[in-house]
Amino acid sequence: SDADAPDAEGDASTEIERLDREYVFGTWSYQKEVSPTEVTGAEGVRFTDARGNEYLDLSGQLMCSNLGHSADAVADAIAEQAQEGAYFAPGFTTEARARLGEKLAAVTPGDLSKTFFSTSGTEAIEAAIKMARLYTGKHKIVSRYRSYHGATYGSISVTGDPRRLPAEPGIPGAIKAPDPYDYGSTLDPMESVEYIDEMLMLEGDTVAAVLVEPIVGSNGILVPPDDYLPRLKEIAHDHDTLLICDEVMSGFGRTGEWFGCDVFDVTPDIMTMAKGLSGAYAPLGATIVSDDVAEHFEDNMLVHGHTYAGHPVTVAAGLAAVETYERENLVEHAGEVGDYLGTRLDELAEDHPSVGDVRGVGLFRGIELTKRADERVPFGHREDKLSTGTTVVDEVTQDAYERGVYVASMINTLIIAPPLTITESDVDE
Ligand code: PLP
Repeated sequence: SDADAPDAEGDASTEIERLDREYVFGTWSYQKEVSPTEVTGAEGVRFTDARGNEYLDLSGQLMCSNLGHSADAVADAIAEQAQEGAYFAPGFTTEARARLGEKLAAVTPGDLSKTFFSTSGTEAIEAAIKMARLYTGKHKIVSRYRSYHGATYGSISVTGDPRRLPAEPGIPGAIKAPDPYDYGSTLDPMESVEYIDEMLMLEGDTVAAVLVEPIVGSNGILVPPDDYLPRLKEIAHDHDTLLICDEVMSGFGRTGEWFGCDVFDVTPDIMTMAKGLSGAYAPLGATIVSDDVAEHFEDNMLVHGHTYAGHPVTVAAGLAAVETYERENLVEHAGEVGDYLGTRLDELAEDHPSVGDVRGVGLFRGIELTKRADERVPFGHREDKLSTGTTVVDEVTQDAYERGVYVASMINTLIIAPPLTITESDVDE
């Protein structure tokens, strides 16, 4: 249309892109740099923009579109629930809410059994922090530097990466521990876990929970050694502290197992979920707790809730999504295609001078770019980004985009986390 023709200044944006740019804030951005792309359609592992360009979605948007863009059963469940009754207050229930609760107790490990529903990963973390504090009567939360747990004041305070800095001082009692980052840290991963033991001793009996992503997502796809998570749970329990696993990104088949902690055979006391829980078809978060923690709230008030906690449309999406993972064996498929992806990425690591490391499991992989691979000098520190606006890594993702591949990045790592429906030939492409 004429509205989509370049304007007098040669701006080739569509009308929608111009309107959006003017009236809607972009997230995590200098607003002058925001330039949204108008999307007009999506199918399977691909999406299309208003200019008719097609993109392979190599990061499942924000590492959340685990079912791809054609999960009709989920779309139908949403429409059906919206027509039957879009919203009832949390004091009422619907079939999908009860059945999704039952389903999550079945697919999560061990005795995780009772779920609090919310509408995002951030809110799932807020509920986890509050429940851990109420259950233990203690207030501190130990989390790690290379982590992201959400954007609200509680969840950003327990986030370790630099996104927390503008929100500081944040909530009291948020303490940071070192990470199991073999490639980029001077500390050995198993030394770093013993360091947490010492931290808990030095903090006295004040720590409610240790909160970790079992496999770190946006901070670079960090996979700990097999013994790390079991040892962390042992340490936490020795200090009467809960273990919270944040599975917002690592959950729902991403690793080739249902959850990241399944890779290490560990059941946390509390687990948070979002993203893949609804396959990104609706904003849905969940916090599931062990029998012990659930029992505590029989006689102690759960002082928490949101208007849209367990919103009928979102839980209908969640139930249909989990049924889709099961029906289409997507968790197993993710493991198989994930192994293939791993093999292909290893080839890159061998040949490419700027690929320092490739790592990950299943369809949860990272490519760490370095100026000189042999010396592990990373490209694109966060500080560079804060001062100059773009990094070399941004240029790589932009170049990929212009060639029809959408891939997310954080700091100096490309994050490969496609829909679980991806095939080997998509991987080759
Ligand atoms: N936890 C982890 C591990 C995440 O990756 C994210 C988001 O990327 C969050 C929590 C916050 O989730 P949301 O953006 O849905 O609030």
